Amino acid sequence: MIQYDKSLRKAINKAVRLIMEGRIIEINPNLYYIVGKDRKHIVHVKGNKFECSCKGFEVMGRCSHILAVSAILSSKRGKDFITSNVEKRILRELRKLYYRR
Ligand SMILES: [Zn+2]
Repeated sequence: MIQYDKSLRKAINKAVRLIMEGRIIEINPNLYYIVGKDRKHIVHVKGNKFECSCKGFEVMGRCSHILAVSAILSSKRGKDFITSNVEKRILRELRKLYYRR
């Protein structure tokens, strides 16, 4: 049984944010690039195992990045969803750059 503790709840919320904000980019079916606000990470999918380059994974063996990628992979249209969210984020950022001038 999954222990639904505070840190897991926080990780789930963060995973949802990463997906919704278009911060997860598929490099190939086994590699995902996670564009955090400060840090960037790589999630590696090895069969049904996941590894992440972040500190949280190193210490705890789980992290929000892996939660996010596994949620995407378990959803039928998950990949289309992240692709469209990434496009939206790029447009938003370009708009910001344009209007700053
Ligand atoms: Zn991670």
